[in-house]
Amino acid sequence: MTAPSDNLPPLGVRDLAAVWHPCTQMKDHERELPLIAIRRGQGVWLEDMEGRRYLDAISSWWVNLFGHANPVISAAVARQLAELEHVIFAGFTHEPAVDVAEALIRLAPPGLARCFFADNGSAAVEVAVKMSFHFWRNSGKPGKQRFITLANSYHGETLGALAVGNVALYKDIYAPLLMDVITAPSPDGYAREPGESAESHSRRMFAPMRELLERHAHEAAAVIVEPLVQCAGSMRMYHPVYLRLLRAACDEFNVHLIADEIAVGFGRTGTLFACEQAQITPDFLCLSKGLTGGYLPLSAVLTTSTVYDAFYDEYTKLNAFLHSHSYTGNPLACAAARATLGIFASTPVIERNRELAAHMARATASLADHPHVAEVRQQGMILAIEMVRQRSSREPYDFRERRGLKVYRHALQRGAVLRPIGNVVYFMPPYVITPEEIDLLADIARTGIDAATCD
Ligand code: PMP
Repeated sequence: MTAPSDNLPPLGVRDLAAVWHPCTQMKDHERELPLIAIRRGQGVWLEDMEGRRYLDAISSWWVNLFGHANPVISAAVARQLAELEHVIFAGFTHEPAVDVAEALIRLAPPGLARCFFADNGSAAVEVAVKMSFHFWRNSGKPGKQRFITLANSYHGETLGALAVGNVALYKDIYAPLLMDVITAPSPDGYAREPGESAESHSRRMFAPMRELLERHAHEAAAVIVEPLVQCAGSMRMYHPVYLRLLRAACDEFNVHLIADEIAVGFGRTGTLFACEQAQITPDFLCLSKGLTGGYLPLSAVLTTSTVYDAFYDEYTKLNAFLHSHSYTGNPLACAAARATLGIFASTPVIERNRELAAHMARATASLADHPHVAEVRQQGMILAIEMVRQRSSREPYDFRERRGLKVYRHALQRGAVLRPIGNVVYFMPPYVITPEEIDLLADIARTGIDAATCD
């Protein structure tokens, strides 16, 4: 390790001596990219130790829905803190968990009747994968063990979740440790032919998935997808018709459908759950991130009575679903989730988001003609801008040029957190953002893209 640069703040120096950050080449932070120490947050704003403010345009990794230090959620957590911080969730239960389970079952697509808690997104994916596999075993079909996944998908980074995902950057190095999955091409609409509609592209891209389902039905436990937006896979989007076709084919071939709405759930795509836009019910719905409004780690897997019943038996049959995390159903996290769901119930969040989404579209419209932008795409409150070397050929920038990092740096100087995925700049802001703040963000993105692409 080289000596850290002198201009690092004291906390940055201490951090670099003791901490190892996620998704980070730590060497980056020694000189060129000082760590930013955050002292407090308020609404969409974060404030560092020197009092500089940053608009959190990515909701702190897509978790925050109603602003930092939200008074309603903070008060709910504080009340819970005075009552019960945690209790073992095997053999014991508590009101916040039951309230959240009931509310999720009420809000989720019809037919989901049971809620299993875990404590982060990857763990929820592990639960869904294990439950599906175990369901088939309990149902006398032990040969159904494999998973069908989409190219460019991301489902987390524990080994099972990594295996069913498909982003090479995260996955390739660990390939020897991962189960073998069946990969279908992505319906990613960025790849559609000129003049082809998103819907006909998604329909066309379903053909290979159908073929795989037919061929592997005897050995396939489930298909896992991120409904409508492959978020970590550069915010690539597809049409709901794909999900409708997928649901029908999964039924036809007797294969489960796992919807990973960890990133897209809770209003991000314009509806409370993305599956609603296809009017489908998955066999497993994985939720996390926004579930607690971005306060505390919690995840949930919702499933059907059919799945639940396959595990319900005499103890001695050893058919129970055995998956346990120490912090399963943590009362503080459940209190935050209950308060978050309460905000959805008491305010017209989805309607208001529609206006904010329309404003995001207007504010970024001029970027569609930028010489180094191939596409501006949007699904509800997620808007992504694809930077390219050449607009006409869509030739991408080499990742080593780190164009996205230039946008990141520029945005920090201008007071915003934009954290591009490769060459894709995106907004996924908390829902308490104002139209004026969206305008500011759009201006920062435009000038940042200019600065990052000017040579
Ligand atoms: N699935 C999806 C679709 C995600 O976007 C993420 C996180 N980015 C995960 C799973 C994993 O969640 P966590 O980071 O909480 O493990």
